[in-house]
Amino acid sequence: MILVVDDQTENIYALKKLLESKNFEVDTASSGEEALKKVLKADYALIILDVQMPGIDGFEVAETLSGYSRTKEVPIIFLSAVNTEKKFIAKGYASGGIDYITKPVDPDILMLKVKTFHRLYEQTLALNEIQDNLKLEIESRKKAQQELHEKVEQLHTTLESLPQIAFRADEWGRVNFVNKKWFQYSPCPHTFPEVHPDDMSMEKVWMDCINHQCPEEMEIRIKELKTGLFRFHLLSIMPVKSSQGIKSWVGTFTDIDEQKQEEKRKDEFLSIASHELKTPLTSIKAYIQLLDRVQQKQPESPASTYISRAHDQVNKLDSLIGDLLDISKIENGKLKMNKEPFDLEHLISGIIETIGHTSNQPNLKIERQGTPFSRPIMGDSIRIEQVLINFFTNAIKYSPGSDRIVLHTAQEDDHIYIGVQDFGIGIPEHKKDRVFSKFYRVEESSVRFQGLGIGLHICAEIIKQHNGSYGVESTLEKGTTFYFTLPIS
Ligand code: ADP
Repeated sequence: MILVVDDQTENIYALKKLLESKNFEVDTASSGEEALKKVLKADYALIILDVQMPGIDGFEVAETLSGYSRTKEVPIIFLSAVNTEKKFIAKGYASGGIDYITKPVDPDILMLKVKTFHRLYEQTLALNEIQDNLKLEIESRKKAQQELHEKVEQLHTTLESLPQIAFRADEWGRVNFVNKKWFQYSPCPHTFPEVHPDDMSMEKVWMDCINHQCPEEMEIRIKELKTGLFRFHLLSIMPVKSSQGIKSWVGTFTDIDEQKQEEKRKDEFLSIASHELKTPLTSIKAYIQLLDRVQQKQPESPASTYISRAHDQVNKLDSLIGDLLDISKIENGKLKMNKEPFDLEHLISGIIETIGHTSNQPNLKIERQGTPFSRPIMGDSIRIEQVLINFFTNAIKYSPGSDRIVLHTAQEDDHIYIGVQDFGIGIPEHKKDRVFSKFYRVEESSVRFQGLGIGLHICAEIIKQHNGSYGVESTLEKGTTFYFTLPIS
């Protein structure tokens, strides 16, 4: 809207008509005071201002408007019949006006100027809007940056308060923060701690993570600067992701040296204890066999029954000690396989017969499903028998009230499959994968059934050494199938 200010009503009328004929909206004021009041209330694109007015004249109005931030941008065209001298024109500009037209007004010139100023005003408004938006954008970016900075600070405080060695790196893997603990293992924030020569180099582990964009968790020995000793640590590397991908990396080294030493001492104890137990047990077994022979003359006597029971218990003890010895052999990498071709079908028939005789369940039925094996297998038949007996004894032990076991067999081009299925208590889904770990027993069943939790661990090791695979499928309260595969050649 354009404001026309003149004390002469006929001038106002003529200008209003002229401007409206060109589609401009027009407001009018007949004095400087009225003009000031209106300008403070409404927004005008242009003010056409008569210079000579009683009371506040045009220059004073312009000066006042240039003092307000809201109105200082509004262009002004001064109209005057008299002040055509240079000094008056200069006064007009100094007080904030932009152009000057003398009366009598030439309508074409006035319209040209009005249009130019109007367009200028609109452009100024548009520029102001862009500027405001830019200011908002800058503000919001500053805020986001501030928030990010605070988050990073929080993360650093958290990493600093950890009892572990902790570090952070940018998306390209350049370490940009390390906590105080780091300096117990490395003198410089950009150098990783020295790794034991037998372990994988830290630079390789790190580059593998960054290049493959995946997390890592592994045991690694790093050198403590003060003692010069390598201590076992659990290294954990995690990518920090955002919607655009990996933003940074966070890593920790957790000192597990104490646990490792404990584990070593326990393994040593197990190894010594089982060796020491084996010698007297062998003598006891020999004496029982001698007694058995002496007693054979009176097979129905109570002494014969006791000897037979003692014999069973000694066999159990023998197998327990055998398992403990196997565990210490696995720990020391000394569980060796004597591999040669053997008849798996023959082995299976023997096991089914033995299980049938030795199990305490007289009604036990072992069903066979699948194809019999026609080709010899390369492997350690005694160890494979150990695996199958373990699967069978577990199937019987963890299936109270069921007397059915199904043995599944299959032969493919390059491997064979054997699965032992029972209809017993089953294993909870989230514990299935852990049953092959050393000393692991499912809590729910460990009170009801005796055991050490090492049988399956040994089985897994034996199958691994045959380059086979193993696993378990189970449904709680319905039953379990333990299986393994072996390569044929
Ligand atoms: P142990 O039987 O001496 O505890 P294992 O290593 O043979 O040790 O088995 C580990 C654990 O796996 C057992 O304690 C038991 O919780 C679970 N488990 C093994 N076999 C079965 C099975 N057939 N059904 C249900 N749970 C089983």
